[in-house]
This record gives sequence, structure tokens and C-alpha cells, in this order.
Amino acid sequence: MPELPDVEGFRRTLAACGQGRRIRDVRVADAGVLHGVSGRQLQRDLEGCRLAEPERYGKWLLAHTDGPTVLFHFGMTGGLLCCSRTDPPHPHDRVVFEVDDRQLRYRDQRKLQGIWLGDDAVAKVLSEQGPDALGLGRAEFVQLLSGRRGTIKAAIIDQSVIAGLGNLLSDEILWRAELHPRRRVAGLGSEEVRRLHTEMGRVLRSSVRAGCVPPRASWLTGHRDDPDPRCPRCDGPLRRGRTAGRTGVWCPRCQPEGD
Ligand SMILES: [Zn+2]
Repeated sequence: MPELPDVEGFRRTLAACGQGRRIRDVRVADAGVLHGVSGRQLQRDLEGCRLAEPERYGKWLLAHTDGPTVLFHFGMTGGLLCCSRTDPPHPHDRVVFEVDDRQLRYRDQRKLQGIWLGDDAVAKVLSEQGPDALGLGRAEFVQLLSGRRGTIKAAIIDQSVIAGLGNLLSDEILWRAELHPRRRVAGLGSEEVRRLHTEMGRVLRSSVRAGCVPPRASWLTGHRDDPDPRCPRCDGPLRRGRTAGRTGVWCPRCQPEGD
């Protein structure tokens, strides 16, 4: 599932493939991915526009142009690909942006209305986001968590608190910080919050470089799909369960539950 590092990868793809180039045409194969805009309007408003430097905010990608901005969200399975015109079409290419001799393809197996258009959409989406997780300073991080109710996992995957973290990143960060996902925010000591912030920065920096949360052997993420997953730190069995509405993975030995 695309989280901050994946979207950062899509931002790089968009910059390399489209920045400074004109959108010649927009072909909407499936309007089910459009949010609040018709296929016809998307095409009409973007045709001839030149793509500017793209921006990422949390899990959102902002494709600025010299006309309206297009917002992309990638839901559970989405992606943005740079293709040549001769590349064979893919059944999940929902919208194709013709950019000079290339194509930017918004591909999504599901259809979760991930494409928005215009300044009002940008303002609405950004107003619902907390500060971006990448480069978030410690003082601000502490401030964001102070006084919060509920569990730490729920808090850090809530996009209105911190933008960009999802299921994989939060599990990885909590495992590194040796904090059980169901620990209460209010019960965390200042040293634990500091650890959480440090590990968030480390995991994000490595993941952004990789363009995904890398499934390395030394990472929790590298073992979450194993049939009998074991902790790469203590070799104990990992546990899987629902926390904050998501199926998470943690090590009961490294991440004790008691506050
Ligand atoms: Zn462990």
C-alpha cells in the first residue's frame, strides 16, 4: 500500500517524466477513479497545460501545472508510471496523460477516486492533513502527541495528526522503538517519545531512498509475510493482530504491552 516513501517515488517519476512538458491529451479509461470531476472536464482543463515541479504532501501527490493542479492519492494499490507510447496498455491504467512523446499512467487495481482537480480540492485536502512526517522536528512531534487519547499506532497513522505514515511504516517504526502498537499515548514517557521520533526519522530516510518500505531481512517489514514470521532482533515469534483497524505485526518480546 502506497505510503509516504512510495508517493515520494511517484513524485520523482512525475518530475523526471513530466516536469516542464505539456499535457497533449488526457484519456480517461475509467471515470471511477475521478473525484468531483468528470473525464471531459479533466481533459478540457488540462489539455495544453505545462507541468511544473511536483510536490508531495503526506500520501498525496500534487501535480502543479500552469493551469489547475491535479491531486493524486494512491489508495491501496495505486501507482504512477512513466511509459512510452509503444508500451502495451495495462488493464488497470485508469487515466493516461499524454506528455509530449511519453505517457504518465495512473494505474490502480481498485477504483478509489484518487484523482482530484483544482485549487478548491487542494485546499480541502491539505486542510485535513497534519504536518508532513518527513523532516518533522522533535519539538513539534512531542507537541502533536501531547494530550492525545488512544493508542500510539492509531495516533501516528491518523493523517490529521501526522501526514504520510501507514500500516507498514508505523509497524516498522514502533518495532524499532520497542513500543507495543496498543500502548496508550498518554502512558508514554518522554524517553519513549524521543525514541519514537528518532526511529521515525531513520525509517523514513531509508524508505524514501528506496521509494518504498524496503522488505529487508533486518527489518520487520522483511518478515511480515513469512509463513512463520520471526523477529529479526530477538528471533522470537512475531504476532499479528488488528490495531487501529489495521492488521499489524509486532514482536511481543521486544514490544511489551504494559504501560
Ligand atoms: Zn523481538
